[in-house]
Amino acid sequence: MSRTFNFSAGPATLPESVLRRAQSEMLEWGKARASVMEVSHRGKDFVAMAKKSEQDLRTLMGIPSSYKVLFLQGGATQHFAQIPMNFARRDQGVDYVLTGHWSEKAAKEAKPLARVRIAASGAEGSYTSIPSRTQWQVDAQAAYLHYTPNETIHGVEFHDIPDAGDVPLVADMSSNILSRPIDVSKFGVIYAGAQKNIGASGLVVMIVREDLLARCPQEMPKIFNYAEHAANESMLNTPNTFGWYLAGLVFEWLMEQGGVAAMGERNRAKASLLYGYIDSSNFYKNPVEKSARSWMNVPFTLPREELDAVFLKDAEAAGLMALKGHRAVGGMRASLYNAMPLEGVQALVDFMKDFAARNA
Ligand SMILES: *Cc1c(COP(=O)(O)O)cnc(C)c1O
Repeated sequence: MSRTFNFSAGPATLPESVLRRAQSEMLEWGKARASVMEVSHRGKDFVAMAKKSEQDLRTLMGIPSSYKVLFLQGGATQHFAQIPMNFARRDQGVDYVLTGHWSEKAAKEAKPLARVRIAASGAEGSYTSIPSRTQWQVDAQAAYLHYTPNETIHGVEFHDIPDAGDVPLVADMSSNILSRPIDVSKFGVIYAGAQKNIGASGLVVMIVREDLLARCPQEMPKIFNYAEHAANESMLNTPNTFGWYLAGLVFEWLMEQGGVAAMGERNRAKASLLYGYIDSSNFYKNPVEKSARSWMNVPFTLPREELDAVFLKDAEAAGLMALKGHRAVGGMRASLYNAMPLEGVQALVDFMKDFAARNA
């Protein structure tokens, strides 16, 4: 086998033990005498798995009972549009905080559907920091305030939860959900595509405060209506059954690891190892203000662009994959999601030291 440390931003590395378990259960899952992909989502085995996975996620994140948990499809991008469809009334504006590529995209997708206001933007600083809270202009009448706690491409992360007053806070947590403990009760809606920290693409987990579901307009097609999905236990139609199952295995793995508190400690250690080395070297640079650096996605540049291709080739030869940065930022990017062990980050730092010595 030639599996390596995979630093992909997404779809991203999964815990090896989860993949092995899925492999061992591929032909016969539980008592079903069939694959999990071959059984009815309304059958009792699948329904039991679905309930357990939701319960495990509730335990992991400490989700209050006043919140619904939905297992949806469409990727985070579809929900960029579906969120304003469900939660904004025509006469209300919606506020967006721009801190990078994904929050920009979320605001753009909302534009045809709601009166989008930009409450704050880090665009002028090329998204290398989070706009100071004193500069935010949040409309107290806004239907919600949308932000992106971790910007996967720019490597910018909020290390606290912004206070939106009575305006419901809507968070695209695609790339940092379950990476540390958070207080769910501070949010109106949390949503996340699964392919970074949860499992396979094609699944979106949404945690929504129940009272907000009363806002979902009745005249919209049911399939877009979150209240309908909630009323039908995320089985309004056939859900992404395999994705849901895999998410359940990852939740079990997280519990075995000691939950999100243990993950948070591990993720802090991984990030500080890599940033510590980058800051100590005069070869590599990370452009993000220290207080806003992401624990999950670490972009960095080399001193000369022509070294990029050599770095990637040598890294692959050393068993370190998918380090190419996003074209919007350039350079490299190492994604350090939950499933990336500390040893992977240590191997990366060792390689970077060696590469710098050879190419200084
Ligand atoms: C990856 C990502 C998305 C896009 O997810 P899709 O599933 O491709 O729609 C949106 N937001 C953030 C923060 C992401 O990291």
